[in-house]
Amino acid sequence: MKKLEEYVRSIPDFPEEGIVFRDVTSVLQDKDSLKMSIDQMQSLLDDVDIDVVVGPESRGFIFGVPIAYNLNKAFVPVRKKGKLPCETIEMEYALEYGTATIEMHKDAIKPGQRVAIIDDLIATGGTIEAITKLIESLGGIVVKIIFLMELEGLHGRDKLKGYDVEAVIKYE
Ligand code: 5GP
Repeated sequence: MKKLEEYVRSIPDFPEEGIVFRDVTSVLQDKDSLKMSIDQMQSLLDDVDIDVVVGPESRGFIFGVPIAYNLNKAFVPVRKKGKLPCETIEMEYALEYGTATIEMHKDAIKPGQRVAIIDDLIATGGTIEAITKLIESLGGIVVKIIFLMELEGLHGRDKLKGYDVEAVIKYE
């Protein structure tokens, strides 16, 4: 059987020249790798006590919801600004060019709840760093951060010091 990393399609010069984009659609469109990816990410939560899974739009939803469902936990979406209908808190963070703003519903996490954050990929770590701040401002405790893929050369973990961070597939 093929290994999970063999299902990731690498696209040179996407979305711009010099970037090698790690494509998850090739993982999702095969039933074996879809199952492997969710199972392997979920196994990193064995023996971890959580109440809620948080996932950012949009690929964090793809992996976060099945894991939350399998573990019988709640799922909380983090969305780009302007998409959530109720009262929100927001956080701005730096992109390579410019900034982005993400939001969560204010009532999505209760003080003291234990949270696992799940996303497809960590690059610079800016997205997840902003999400940790949102969760903590609501009184949540980030106990685990899980990625399918990590681009180690971008040192995203440096922004997540003090957190328990794991990735299933690592690229230099
Ligand atoms: P960061 O904030 O860590 O720099 O960027 C991470 C976000 O950008 C993730 O939500 C991820 O979906 C997206 N991203 C950046 N590079 C890639 C890539 O090569 N492949 C995929 N699938 N997503 C990427």
